[in-house]
Amino acid sequence: MAVALPDDVREFRNGAQRAVQIHRLFVALFLAGDLLFLPGEWWLHRAHLLPLALRAWVFAPLAMVCIQGAAEWALRKYPESRENMLIASGTLLALVAIAAYPGADSLRAALLLPVVTSILHLRVEKVWLAGAAAFAAELTLTLLQVSSSGNAKAILASLSQWAIWSLVLLWTASASHIVLRFGLRIWDELRVQTRAQTELWVRQILSEKEAKTDALTGLYNRKSFDEYLSFALQISDGTNTPLHLAVIDIDNFKQINDHYGHLVGDEILRRTAHAIQQHLAAGDFLARYGGEEFAVIIPEITHEQAVQNMEKIREYIANVHHVELDGNRATVSIGLSTHRPGETGEELFERADQCLYRAKQTGKNKIVAWESAVSG
Ligand code: GH3
Ligand code: MG
Ligand code: MG
Repeated sequence: MAVALPDDVREFRNGAQRAVQIHRLFVALFLAGDLLFLPGEWWLHRAHLLPLALRAWVFAPLAMVCIQGAAEWALRKYPESRENMLIASGTLLALVAIAAYPGADSLRAALLLPVVTSILHLRVEKVWLAGAAAFAAELTLTLLQVSSSGNAKAILASLSQWAIWSLVLLWTASASHIVLRFGLRIWDELRVQTRAQTELWVRQILSEKEAKTDALTGLYNRKSFDEYLSFALQISDGTNTPLHLAVIDIDNFKQINDHYGHLVGDEILRRTAHAIQQHLAAGDFLARYGGEEFAVIIPEITHEQAVQNMEKIREYIANVHHVELDGNRATVSIGLSTHRPGETGEELFERADQCLYRAKQTGKNKIVAWESAVSG
């Protein structure tokens, strides 16, 4: 099972993309609202329709599209300051919406837009920066209102409205802060858990691999061989396809150890294992059966092809001159048997082993097959 670890960079970029989507949605809703309220506004402002129409249906949408377009362009050009740009463009979009309908006080709620979207940046300080920007916009609007108000009552109304909206802003920023902190904590916990789980899986996979493979050569071990052989026999019997078993044993390996030492012996073992592996087909299964003995399960091909393939391996190994052996060679003998329907794994192995014994008895560095013999 694949685990996608949370990636900070990707998450932040996704956050900015989502914020862009929310801003687009805001612009779309504003335009939809424009259309929806058109008849009512027309009826209300019949006398002053032209300035309203210009402001709400021409300038505001135009300004919004420009702000949004510029923000999206700048985001691509300066991705490192995307959070601040989104906060600025969100605040500007809200200001345009408010300015389009000066009579609609409730539109000041639009200033909550940059605060709420700043949660997506996953940084508490950005939430408060957005809150401060919205507060500054709110203050500017109020000051403009106050400066254009003629009487004390209107000034008082503006100030009380400012106080209410400031409280709403404060509440929204605080709530966003709490939601974000909570989300980040869950995210952190999830991360720790995911990492722990991944480590557990890695450890499990490694120990499974350790149990199935041989440390020196990296090949499958005897246990894996036994398991795979019974599986391969079932497939062969079930599908009536050929299956061969080759047992490969390094010749005079004891002498190599005695002459050149165990470490050189290990190296020859590793090299021989690698040479065999290199010459096998994808469907073949190679294991270190024990000591200096390897076993290969060869499915699907004919007996002759299997003998030929093994002969190639024998020949290749017989032509390698090892520096560690003073340029001498380390040959192999091979016994090969072809599975007979219904035969057990032990019987198949026993026949291959007998062939190997014959190869050893008759001069080594050769292959002996139960069904035919090819001398090396
Ligand atoms: P033959 O040609 O008849 O196969 O003779 P041989 O000397 O290869 O066979 P024998 O069974 O007499 O000796 C095998 C030797 O392989 C003995 C053992 O110490 C050595 N051996 C087994 N496993 C390892 C290993 O992992 N590393 C090294 N260096 N030697 C090993
Ligand atoms: Mg040997
Ligand atoms: Mg042996």
